[in-house]
Amino acid sequence: MEKLPAFHNEPYTDFSAPANRRAMEEALAQVRAQFGREYDLRIGGERLKTGDMLRSVNPSNPQEIVGVHHRATTELARRAVESAYAYFPEWSATPEEERVRLLLRAGSILRRRKLEFDAWLVLEAGKTWPEADADVSEAIDFCEYYSREMQRLSGPQQPTVQLPGERGELRYLPLGAGVIIPPWNFPLAILVGMSVASLVAGNTAIVKPSSETPTIAAKFGEVLLEAGFPEKSFSVLTGSGAAVGDVLVEHPKTRFVAFTGSRDVGLRINELAARTQPGQIWIKRVIAEMGGKDAIVVDADCDLDKAVEGVAVSAFGYSGQKCSACSRAIVDAKVYDAFLEKLQARVSRITVGDAAKAENYMGPVISGGAQRTILQYIETGKQEGRLLPVNVAAPAEGYFVAPTVIADVDSKARIFQEEIFGPVLAVTKARDFDHAMKLANDSQYGLTGAIFSNVPEHIDRARRQFFVGNLYVNRKCTGAMVGAHPFGGFNMSGTDSKGGGSDYMLLFLQAKSIAERVA
Ligand code: NAD
Repeated sequence: MEKLPAFHNEPYTDFSAPANRRAMEEALAQVRAQFGREYDLRIGGERLKTGDMLRSVNPSNPQEIVGVHHRATTELARRAVESAYAYFPEWSATPEEERVRLLLRAGSILRRRKLEFDAWLVLEAGKTWPEADADVSEAIDFCEYYSREMQRLSGPQQPTVQLPGERGELRYLPLGAGVIIPPWNFPLAILVGMSVASLVAGNTAIVKPSSETPTIAAKFGEVLLEAGFPEKSFSVLTGSGAAVGDVLVEHPKTRFVAFTGSRDVGLRINELAARTQPGQIWIKRVIAEMGGKDAIVVDADCDLDKAVEGVAVSAFGYSGQKCSACSRAIVDAKVYDAFLEKLQARVSRITVGDAAKAENYMGPVISGGAQRTILQYIETGKQEGRLLPVNVAAPAEGYFVAPTVIADVDSKARIFQEEIFGPVLAVTKARDFDHAMKLANDSQYGLTGAIFSNVPEHIDRARRQFFVGNLYVNRKCTGAMVGAHPFGGFNMSGTDSKGGGSDYMLLFLQAKSIAERVA
């Protein structure tokens, strides 16, 4: 296979063009026409029904059932691992270039069906049109980027020192059967990224989607099959994480777990995977990307309008349900009042409503449970700080929460320390830049962060001292692009796996060194 051309990010759909708007409306209608369809479990080559049904709903209108899915049992979870383990020798022996070809084909299918996938994300995950389109674009990027990475990592690597009388080389091999556990908030991009990195490396995969977004996962399963991935190379195992998760993670034939989700579940997986099971002959590898409590520092000398805009879109895009979302604004005392005034005006212009309606900037949150948790945090926040009146109405039906800003928040406050995962922003006053840096790092997490400043010395200090995996300067802290911003965090934000970067594929491979005596 010839070397692939340089990687480029997939362009976003321009929804201001009337033709694209019409096409998106049509895609939404076509997807709605499939509402309520039943989806089988797919384990290796088998399609199975358990009769224990999981119904996913449209969070903008929970009366609407998006998909009806058979839930896996623990017995089927075991079977999925056995099946992935049994097929691994065959799949891992497939030439790398064949696997790359299949992955490029999967990317092309996603590109062809982009608006359809956008529509599934709007209707099952409550993403607005642009947020859905960014998610699908990122999924395509992962297919393209990891294809190139696998091409780069095929064959002998990094010239080793050649000793006299010896020919030496190093090659990468796949690991085995892996369990892929994505969250619902990037229901396509993250699921695709972790799954295709596993598969293109030559691993078999059991994909356990989030119970909130199983239809999107089932649809992506169809894409992999259409692209030509063998039926037995992957399973889509819908089911409750709590019920089947432990079985998948603990199984002695599981070689690795790639997880993205909350801190508590990630830590549990890490612990369970570390316990050696009878018959297990390896140390399981765990990739765990977890939560965030991301801060934007607003310096006294900065472009305040840009800072306000950066904070508002980072805090309220996708209703604050991004691991990278800004949930703490740390503002220098000299510009604190002016910042709040401008932020109040900016947030007051946000519109909240049905994600399928293009005019809404914010859609719903994912579920009734999430809505309740977020509203409780808002009540806590009102005790811990001062609620900034923004007067944005949220519809009563559906899982909506209005954008919420709590000012004057102390760093000990729960809403300063705990991940809320909703449209709630805590604003804290810093005495000076030193204090701002201390506040920014006063967190168990370390995922993304941003600084708005015109002071080169402060920017330089943030580069060195702001302890986050993804730092942004004079821009928002969300919207990492594959290839440009390899993604992953420090401390309780996870294993810093750097998805979409050139370190990532190595997590799905192991290196073998070979030395041959030639004289
Ligand atoms: P979650 O931890 O509740 O669930 C994540 C996945 O784990 C789901 O598929 C779920 O079914 C599964 N699961 C639940 N219990 C399990 C168990 N005992 N064993 C195995 N699997 C289990 O997280 P979520 O609500 O889906 O996603 C939101 C969280 O994800 C937030 O904390 C967010 O910050 C984080 N996140 C992090 C990143 C990142 O790159 N760091 C990206 C996106 C989301």
